[in-house]
Amino acid sequence: MNILIIGTGYVGLVSGTCFSEFGYKVTCVDHDSNKIKNLKKGIIPIYEPGLNELVNKNLNNKNLNFDTNLNKYLNKSDCVFLAVGTPSRRGDGHADLKFIFRAVEEICLNLKKKIVLVTKSTVPVGTAKKIKELIKKLNKEDLVCVASNPEFLREGSAINDFLRPDRVVIGTNDQHSKKLLNKLYSPLNIRQVPMVNTDTETSELIKYASNSFLATKITFINEIARFCKKTGTNINDVSRAMGLDKRIGPKFLHSGPGYGGSCFPKDTLAMSKIFKDKKIRFNIVDTVIKTNNKIKEDLSKDILKVIRANKVNKILFLGLSFKPETDDIRESSSIFIINYLIKKNKNLIISAHDPVAIPNCKKEKLKVNYYTDLEKSFQKQEMVIIATEWNIYRSINFENLYKEMNSNIIYDLRNIYSSNKEIPKIGFKYYSITSK
Ligand code: NAD
Repeated sequence: MNILIIGTGYVGLVSGTCFSEFGYKVTCVDHDSNKIKNLKKGIIPIYEPGLNELVNKNLNNKNLNFDTNLNKYLNKSDCVFLAVGTPSRRGDGHADLKFIFRAVEEICLNLKKKIVLVTKSTVPVGTAKKIKELIKKLNKEDLVCVASNPEFLREGSAINDFLRPDRVVIGTNDQHSKKLLNKLYSPLNIRQVPMVNTDTETSELIKYASNSFLATKITFINEIARFCKKTGTNINDVSRAMGLDKRIGPKFLHSGPGYGGSCFPKDTLAMSKIFKDKKIRFNIVDTVIKTNNKIKEDLSKDILKVIRANKVNKILFLGLSFKPETDDIRESSSIFIINYLIKKNKNLIISAHDPVAIPNCKKEKLKVNYYTDLEKSFQKQEMVIIATEWNIYRSINFENLYKEMNSNIIYDLRNIYSSNKEIPKIGFKYYSITSK
């Protein structure tokens, strides 16, 4: 089977590489010629554990190929995946589908054979129908079957999530697409991965409903954490005990500085919008969106209060990516808080360490001094904010940190050290999302 993937971002690159690992012939195309030039040489544009090895293996055995030119491969493909971005539309929160429709136009302009066109990008309910209308307008309806196959991978564990998914959702309204997509994913049958076959609209809804639920779960525990902060009760014990209940489960129950990343913020907003379009209010998700924004703002205000009370001028952020094991900084809470602090106090000198996200931050032109050496980053700081729970921040040598710093403030946004009794004894003033 020949597969064409449009878009080599986090989803397109991982999906294309994993399909080539199944043994299919895959070409990934992208408009970004620099990205493609590097990918052809096996240089990966993102940080994703295990991806480098897998891309290079499949480049070498010729199962995987990269190009900027869609036309060269389109008419040799059986299945074309759309893995382009669907960001929030400026101003109204609807998913912006311009990249989807442009790609569909490009495909129709050059198409001469029958294909199954599959949306892997996260798109609002009804998008497959709109794609079909566009294809009809471009007189290619006899050549294209439209399907939906939302992606559930998580950055940081994307390869494993793709090769060992909890389920695969296949949304089709015709037998040809259904048969082809089930065959495409048949290498997962050995692992007994459940295949959920449904119609295109339901498939589109499943993705938004899943992300909205996960965002709700995170926000729920963050609200409980606010209560713990007021009452001195222990959020870690609450999370653990709740998570041990099999009906609840332990995942997405760790309190933190609000959800971020490239999916939850935009997908919750889009979910709220598609409900409103149908004249229904999704009260829970509307509240989650508001609450998550408020959590980030309140935390920023609290950090500012600590800065003022302790006359802090120099701050070090540990972690810039929105979560560990990725270089993705889209909607990262660290970046939100850094921008808030800079806006409120122009005299603050902010530094940051991150294992992989610094190049992406530099593109954003943040007013921050960057460190790649953790020990060096401690020198002469007055306050350290633990912002992302990278493993290297779980084993900080606090004796050494105390010696290197010019003051003694720690603010732990991930609650990593809230039960560590040694930190105050060394001389630190320790603040966290749940301790005053
Ligand atoms: P991304 O922004 O990282 O990558 C999109 C890529 O598509 C870019 O490289 C861009 O140059 C390319 N592109 C856009 N239009 C193109 C065209 N016409 N032809 C060729 N290339 C084109 O996006 P992403 O994070 O990979 O997300 C893609 C989709 O998958 C989104 O809808 C997202 O919501 C969804 N998704 C993302 C994740 C995730 O963890 N990032 C997980 C599941 C689903």
